[in-house]
Amino acid sequence: MYPKLVELKQKLAIVHDLNMAAAVLSWDNETYMPPGGAEARAQQLGTLLSLAHEKFTADEIGHLLDDLREYEASLPYDSDEASLLRVARREYEKKMRVPSEFVARQTETQALSYNTWVKARPQSDFHAVIPWLEKILDLSREYSSFFPNGSDENHHVADALIDLGDPQMSAADIRRVFGELREQLRPIVRAITSQPPADDSCLRQFFPEAEQLKFALGVAQQLGYDLQRGRQDKTAHPFMTHFSIGDVRITTRVKEYDWSEAFFSTIHEAGHAMYGQGHSRSLERTMLAEGTSSGVHESQSRLWENLVARSKNFWEHFYPKLQTAFPSQFENVSLDTFYRAVNKVEPSLIRTDADEVTYNLHVMMRFEFELQMLEGKLAIRDLPDAWDETITRDVGATPPNLSQGVMQDVHWYAGQIGGAFQGYTLGNILSAQFFDAALRAHPTIPEQIRRGEFSTLHGWLQHNIYAPGSKFLPNEIIHRATGEELNIKPYIAYLRRKYGELYEL
Ligand code: ZN
Repeated sequence: MYPKLVELKQKLAIVHDLNMAAAVLSWDNETYMPPGGAEARAQQLGTLLSLAHEKFTADEIGHLLDDLREYEASLPYDSDEASLLRVARREYEKKMRVPSEFVARQTETQALSYNTWVKARPQSDFHAVIPWLEKILDLSREYSSFFPNGSDENHHVADALIDLGDPQMSAADIRRVFGELREQLRPIVRAITSQPPADDSCLRQFFPEAEQLKFALGVAQQLGYDLQRGRQDKTAHPFMTHFSIGDVRITTRVKEYDWSEAFFSTIHEAGHAMYGQGHSRSLERTMLAEGTSSGVHESQSRLWENLVARSKNFWEHFYPKLQTAFPSQFENVSLDTFYRAVNKVEPSLIRTDADEVTYNLHVMMRFEFELQMLEGKLAIRDLPDAWDETITRDVGATPPNLSQGVMQDVHWYAGQIGGAFQGYTLGNILSAQFFDAALRAHPTIPEQIRRGEFSTLHGWLQHNIYAPGSKFLPNEIIHRATGEELNIKPYIAYLRRKYGELYEL
């Protein structure tokens, strides 16, 4: 290997180690750390992350990247080496544009704003957070100003913010796709919610925690989540985290009177985790051993959670096993009743509790508000009214207070306005697009799912999505895996097929 590339790889590996060590500390923070550790832990995390930042933005990294330009041009585009140079250069140039004075100011504002939100939310005290949201909005605009793009008439102030999670997916493209999706979804939601809701009382009996966890994790393993390289722990808010390709962990939360909570969050996080476990071994200890974007990552959790684990085929195999695990709860519940219960659609207020049909309306509403706030067309003080009006119109539910409305999600209050939400709905759209492509390559997948076999589907995802890690941009991965651009057709067809049958639409 070219000596300068060896040198660069060693330096980037140290940055990677620091970031992964910080991830272990965060995981511990969310799972087992006693409250007394909080203050010191925040300092330890701060130290590791600022060291990683310093080492990554050092001049010598810039020089090495410059010196390696010619060598990179001689390599095949999809080789590990060329991809590492390309991705490292993109990240380096991005980080170098943002002054460290700005990062410090933003971090401090986010922390203070978060504390205000935590106290104000239970009281629905939006007034208390207005000045903070205004500061966050200014900072979001300021961040964007480091990435001017004067020549491009489609340039949007949100582009640089979206780029943080979903690289090079523009506000204009997402707005167009979401506009189409909203038009298609509204009549489907109206048709479903004008009917009596499905009976999901079978899910709301008592289910002992240990047995819930055992059943869910057993299913996750059967889908392909490898416990030799993973584990599951409990948290308040389920997440997936990874420290290496050999150590990809999930967390879940259990509600003893709602069976669906732990089960579907386990499958969701296992979907993220299989992506993390599936990166090519050759990418280990590099920044390429990552998912490519929040949208593509979410597509992997949603594919397993919704397209697989909420399908009729899936439960034809697993429902008898569930009945054996919980005989007194499910003995007298038919497969059909159970299948309808896990696919119940109803207007709701809270995004994270929403079903797979109405969920996107929650997300797209937030995305559109972000653009309008950044454009200066929606003032922070007018946000609560705009919120209530839109969710009433689109979802058919009106928040009784602001804590169940505009104050429910942490994203804006502790992060940024712009780029915070689109990944969730991009994930849903892509889950169907990828599943469709897998089915075109292997038409027997549904039949295999009915037999509890997942290796063909897992293998297709492994090859097309997991293995390349973040070597390619999201639009490149979508094109390579499906031969198409991002589009809503497979997702809408999936919803129409499934819910058309369930609700006789
Ligand atoms: Zn997720």
